[in-house]
Amino acid sequence: MGRLVMKFGGTSVANIDRIRNAARHVKREVDAGHDVAVVVSAMAGKTNELVEWCRDASPMHDAREYDAVVASGEQVTAGLLAIVLQGLGIQARSWQGWQIPIRTSDAHASARILEIDGADLINRFRERKEVAVIAGFQGINPQTGRITTLGRGGSDTTAVALAAALEADLCEIYTDVPGVFTADPRVVPTAHRIPRISFEEMLEIAATGGRVLSLRSVEFARNHHVPLLVRSSFTWEPGTVVTEEDPSMEQPVVSAVTHDTSQAKITLSGVADRPGIAAALFRHLADRSINVDMIVQNISHHGTTDISFTVPRDDVEASREVAASMLDTLGAAEVVTDEGVATVSLVGAGMKTHPGVTATMFETLAAEGINIEMISTSPIRISCMVRAEVAERAVQVLHGAFELDAPS
Ligand code: ADP
Ligand code: ASP
Ligand code: MG
Repeated sequence: MGRLVMKFGGTSVANIDRIRNAARHVKREVDAGHDVAVVVSAMAGKTNELVEWCRDASPMHDAREYDAVVASGEQVTAGLLAIVLQGLGIQARSWQGWQIPIRTSDAHASARILEIDGADLINRFRERKEVAVIAGFQGINPQTGRITTLGRGGSDTTAVALAAALEADLCEIYTDVPGVFTADPRVVPTAHRIPRISFEEMLEIAATGGRVLSLRSVEFARNHHVPLLVRSSFTWEPGTVVTEEDPSMEQPVVSAVTHDTSQAKITLSGVADRPGIAAALFRHLADRSINVDMIVQNISHHGTTDISFTVPRDDVEASREVAASMLDTLGAAEVVTDEGVATVSLVGAGMKTHPGVTATMFETLAAEGINIEMISTSPIRISCMVRAEVAERAVQVLHGAFELDAPS
C-alpha cells in the first residue's frame, strides 16, 4: 500500500463523462489499497473563458479580483469529481486551496507555493480512508486571506507540491497524450513516447515550449525528489517516468525537439557601448517582473551596438514601454518589437559529450532555407529563433535529422 497524488488536466475533466472516466482511474487505485489525493484542473477551455471575461470587464483589472474569478473553474471540477466518486461508493471530499491551506506568495496571478499543511488530509486517510479532491491552480495569501492563482498550467505545480507535502510515493499526471514525446505529437505525427526521462531534460523541455508539464512543477519535483508519471487518462499505455538521472544508462544525444511560439523579440538599436548600459536596461525590466530569455548584443561600430532580447508575448507592451522610456539613458536610437518569432530547441543529456549536434542542427535548418535569428545554449540544450511560420517545419525536419522518428 502506498500514497498517490493523481492530477487530471482540463481535457481529462472536460465534461461529466470524462469526470466519470477520471473517477474510474481513482477507484482503481483506491481498490488497490492506496491513499489517494486527486488534483483537478478546470474543464478544458474554462480558464481561457474566465481570463477573457476579466479582460472584457476591464483591461486594467485588479489582480486580486482576477484570481477570485479564474480560481472558480477548479472549484467546480473538484466538487463534481467528489460527487461522482461518492456515487461509486468511495469516501471523497473536495478541498479549495484556502481550505487545506495551500499558502502562497502575494504575487497574484503568478503566486508561488510557500507551504502546504498536509496534516488534515493525512489524518483523514488514516481515520476514514477518504479520498481528497483538491482544486488545482489556487492557494491563499496568508497575509491578506485572499485567493491566489499560480499562473497558467499551475495545477501541475499544485499536484507536485502536494505530493511533496504528503510524502507521496508517486505523482501521476493524467493528460490527453500518453506521456512525454520526442516532439509535440500534434506537430510531429511520427514522434514517440519517451519511457523515462531525467528531471534536467524535462526542465529544458518544459522551458522551451513542451507544455505537457509546467516548468515550475518540474523544478519542484526535482528539488523535492518527487517522481512523476505522465500518462493518458484515455489509454492504458505505460506513460513516461520523470525521475533522477540514471548514471548507469547511456544518455541519448537528442531526446526531444521542442518549439515555443509564446515569446517576442525586442531590439534596441544604436545603444551606447559602455559599462552599465545592459545592467540599467535589464534591471528596469526585472523591476517590472519581466522574464527575459535570450539576449544578443552585436559587436559595436563607432561606439554603438544593437541589443535584442526575448520576453513572453504578454509582456511585449510593458517591455516596449520600459525600453522606450530609457532611450535617452541608453543613448539608443529606437526600439522595435517583433511578435512573428518562435524558438525551436534540441534537448538531450548526451549533448554534453557529443560534439557536432549544433553543426547538424544548423545544417538541417539551412537545407530547408530556414534563417536563424538568435541562438542560445545550455549544456543539454540548443535553441534557435526562427520565423514563427516555419517553426513547425523546423521541428519536423530536426526530428527526422536526429533519427527520432518512430519506425513505421
Ligand atoms: P493538461 O490540460 O492535461 O494539463 P496540456 O494541454 O497542458 O494538458 O499538455 C498536454 C499537451 O502538451 C499535449 O496535448 C501536447 O499537444 C502538448 N505537448 C507539447 N510538447 C509535448 C511533448 N514533447 N510531449 C507530449 N506532449 C506535448
Ligand atoms: N486551469 C488552469 C489553466 O488552464 C490551470 C491548469 O489547468 O493547470 O491554466
Ligand atoms: Mg497543462
